[in-house]
Amino acid sequence: MIVQARNVSKTYGSNGHLNKALDNITMTILEGEFVGLMGPSGAGKTSLLNIFSTIDTASSGEIKIMGKDINAMKEAELANFRRHELGFVFQDYHLLDTLSVKDNIVLPLALSGVPVHEIEKRAQEIAHKLDLVDVLSQFPYQISGGQKQRAAVARAMIAKPRLVLADEPTGALDSKAATDVLERLQTLNQTDRATILLVTHDAYAASFCQRIIFMKDGRFDQELDRRGRSRVE
Ligand code: ADP
Ligand code: ADP
Repeated sequence: MIVQARNVSKTYGSNGHLNKALDNITMTILEGEFVGLMGPSGAGKTSLLNIFSTIDTASSGEIKIMGKDINAMKEAELANFRRHELGFVFQDYHLLDTLSVKDNIVLPLALSGVPVHEIEKRAQEIAHKLDLVDVLSQFPYQISGGQKQRAAVARAMIAKPRLVLADEPTGALDSKAATDVLERLQTLNQTDRATILLVTHDAYAASFCQRIIFMKDGRFDQELDRRGRSRVE
């Protein structure tokens, strides 16, 4: 089991102005799944993703990621856990403008103290998979949006995390670049067995997922498999 969440709620704000973003969410994600999370703006998608990312905490409930109770982990332990077990992809890429594409991609390995020859080997490997070989020495401002997002996917995947959390990764891309990124995420899911949780507004992006959870007002509204059949948990 990669994610086990039980009765997770999240309330923002204090006294007077409380905003319940997540209302008693219970869910599991199995190893190797590619799960889509959909729903209107304000439904709670990003809040849930941020909690699974360990960058925010739930107000109540239990969350185990890969069997570990993340509420019980200390900050140093969480930082280590994020670096080794989790990969992140954002709508706006989050690439560092002062680093080359290659240095952006290998950053997680460099921070983990992986030897230089191993970093080089992994960089070439992932650049091939994501069709980035020709732009490795360029800088983010010199490449297209699709290339930037593929570089961000490469960075998310290079340390071979078990769980990849992607928040609207195709939100800023045209449909051709979006398809390319989605197909590559799908390949990484199938060949590297990375479990992926994808937040999206876009039904086309969601069609790449094995199952789709719809959220509304902080709750799970409906769950479908990829053929649009309703699932009962
Ligand atoms: P999205 O709809 O793509 O999830 P939003 O525009 O809702 O993005 O949120 C962008 C950022 O602003 C997020 O980091 C979110 O946590 C924060 N945010 C959203 N709503 C509020 C709010 N009412 N008060 C403070 N911060 C908010
Ligand atoms: P989604 O990603 O589905 O658009 P969010 O998780 O961003 O939804 O937001 C869920 C609800 O929580 C919204 O009402 C949003 O305004 C609120 N919210 C999100 N982040 C914050 C924040 N940092 N402070 C206060 N309210 C927030």
